[in-house]
Amino acid sequence: MCATVPAEPKKGAKTPRTPMPEQDPSVRVTNFSEVALGYTPEMAAAEAARCIQCKKPGCVKGCPVEINIPGFIAKVKAGDLDGAYKVIKGTNALPAVCGRVCPQENQCEGSCILGKKGEPVAIGRLERFVADTFMAKDACEQLTGDEACHLQREGLKVACIGSGPSSLTVAGYLSSLGVKVHVYEALHELGGVLVYGIPEFRLPKAIVRKEIQAMSAQGVEFFPNWVGGKTITVPELLEKGYNAVFIGVGAGLPTFLNVPGENLIGVFSANEFLTRVNLGRAYNFPKTDTPAFIGKHVAVFGAGNVALDSARTAKRMGAEKVSIVYRRTEKEMPARLEELHHAKEEGIELLCLNAPIAFHGDENGRLKSMSLQRMELGEPDESGRCRPIACEGDTCTLDVDMAIVAVGTSANPLITQTTPGLEKTKRGYVVANEETGETSLPGVFAGGDIVTGAATVISAMGAGRKAAKEIAKRLLGEAAVQ
Ligand code: FAD
Ligand code: SF4
Repeated sequence: MCATVPAEPKKGAKTPRTPMPEQDPSVRVTNFSEVALGYTPEMAAAEAARCIQCKKPGCVKGCPVEINIPGFIAKVKAGDLDGAYKVIKGTNALPAVCGRVCPQENQCEGSCILGKKGEPVAIGRLERFVADTFMAKDACEQLTGDEACHLQREGLKVACIGSGPSSLTVAGYLSSLGVKVHVYEALHELGGVLVYGIPEFRLPKAIVRKEIQAMSAQGVEFFPNWVGGKTITVPELLEKGYNAVFIGVGAGLPTFLNVPGENLIGVFSANEFLTRVNLGRAYNFPKTDTPAFIGKHVAVFGAGNVALDSARTAKRMGAEKVSIVYRRTEKEMPARLEELHHAKEEGIELLCLNAPIAFHGDENGRLKSMSLQRMELGEPDESGRCRPIACEGDTCTLDVDMAIVAVGTSANPLITQTTPGLEKTKRGYVVANEETGETSLPGVFAGGDIVTGAATVISAMGAGRKAAKEIAKRLLGEAAVQ
């Protein structure tokens, strides 16, 4: 499906949004290649021409890292892609990632003026186009321009624990100012959820690797297989002479349903399933060593991005039928709209207004079916979404041989347990100042999911940026911070 390029690109809401070419659904369910294929230069020019260059752009306010959106779009329109990349990179450390996975409908595009009367400018697609075009270039130049690559401030060093988007933002920002950054990551691969959670067909690992290579070229040092709180603790890092420590360890502890039978063979947490497929490369088996168990009929519990990624991954791995079981209706699903649209196109079934009440096993302890409780919607709860209420006595049993639980995650206690004086919330998240990211311990900062609970890539990056700015201000003075 390809877009047609207007002969003379026009501005504004009356011109339809330029569609993104995609793999056909019947083809893409058989592979792990990226679903969305990216704009051509002509498509990007046509889409850029729709932006009316608002004097007070709502899109910028909607972006947690405040990218100068009209500024970069104007450069795309003028054909100056290097300039466009520099504008984006000025505030966003991972544009190729954000262009792909940000929930733009709730952020920049949700605040674009054109959305009031028609379709908003496809800001995410343009960001991805600019970043992908620039990826092929020299890593140092990509990030900071030639000179900054050689900038080194002697004696200043900062440690980041975790290598997800929050830490990568801290590392990218501080290293571009010449501060030495060491990133300690528990896993053998770098990138956090971007590599072990979000599947290849939405965010190719090569894109994340390239962004990380670019940071290495800028002087950031990465130490995989280091578990903060075990291999090295926060107090030890401070004793080693780091000027500041940033905690960006995410919230990777899976939440379970707490219903009978959840320990049966065949019931997985989404974390475990996606990590096996993504990090273990089961999607490439038998070319790689690690296979993954896949059932014939797979039930996935939850309705966020994690649930949809699990469902679409199971389908690609060979499941005959995949059903998403959700307590509310499609309207309340928190997943990105594009993912929901793609999942439906790929034949994923939605079993809305149903909640699991028990899993049942065979004589070998393997999952063979589950009981569901029918639900209806009541009044809105504190999240603003309608509360699901059980329809007493209305239950059913469904044959399933695999279940994936994707109903949320919480904080891993390793860091808080090993860092005396680090204040945490009742739910175990690290308490950090909203403006500076500083925790109860001076010089120790935190941001991303470990502070907010499971959120988004861009909000983790926004928190990383605030913390990095504060660290830079203290180490280098106000003048160094733009
Ligand atoms: P993370 O990305 O979680 O990274 C934390 C890193 O710290 C990990 O690498 C972890 O191994 C490491 N770590 C943990 N403990 C330690 C320790 N003790 N020592 C050293 N390292 C440690 N958001 C979107 O905006 N759009 C999406 O489409 C989207 N899809 C998602 C799909 C899935 C399957 C998942 C799980 C999440 C998705 N999200 C999405 C959410 C988003 O990925 C997260 O909000 C974001 O990655 C959080 O970034 P972070 O830096 O806080 O932590
Ligand atoms: Fe362009 Fe929309 Fe931003 Fe206005 S709000 S500058 S039209 S992207």
